[in-house]
Amino acid sequence: MNVDRMLLPEAPPPGEDVCGRCAAAGPTCCTLSPGQEELCFPVSEMERTRIVEQVGLTLGAFVPEGNSGAFVANLVRLFPSDRDRLIRLFPETGQHLRLAVDGSGNCVFLRAGGCSLPRPVRPYYCRLFPFWLTGKALSAFAAPGCLVHRQGRTVVRMLALLGCTEADVRDLHGRLRLAWGLPPKEGMPFVTPSPARFRP
Ligand code: SF4
Ligand code: SF4
Repeated sequence: MNVDRMLLPEAPPPGEDVCGRCAAAGPTCCTLSPGQEELCFPVSEMERTRIVEQVGLTLGAFVPEGNSGAFVANLVRLFPSDRDRLIRLFPETGQHLRLAVDGSGNCVFLRAGGCSLPRPVRPYYCRLFPFWLTGKALSAFAAPGCLVHRQGRTVVRMLALLGCTEADVRDLHGRLRLAWGLPPKEGMPFVTPSPARFRP
């Protein structure tokens, strides 16, 4: 199944922004290595709904994926102090939704000039990448192919290249945690996740 591309907004022309230039040059963070689909980050119901409201028809844009051991281990690497919560949130017998990819591993929303979704509509993980919070420290994933990384080299310059601030990253990280069913900050009391958080 494919998303009806005619109904999707166009991505900015290549070269308009750093991620557009990255997409025009080759594989980006929006492309999964074939066979690695199970490791793709989950898309919560809240994030799915936001995309549907923006794009309209999204048939085939999200696919159910089992909560495999490798998937959960990946989440635990992202949130090591929330291991037990993650195991409860993503039980081995359950499923979550992820973005669909084509035969080459490209996200269904990826175009030649980058993501076709407006930035505020993209899943939180997409909006955060390549940044992350390690404990309380702002960090960046080691991503040698990432043009933001190659051009910026330091987190401060990378933030500037993407036109965002440390406060933006901290805010997005908290929102992602909530969307995935975790409390917005590490160490905060557990919040009961909405049953609509994931809809396989
Ligand atoms: S939704 Fe956009 S930013 Fe996220 S993986 Fe797909 S193309 Fe990339
Ligand atoms: S975040 Fe990095 S890898 Fe992803 S599209 Fe932008 S420059 Fe490329």
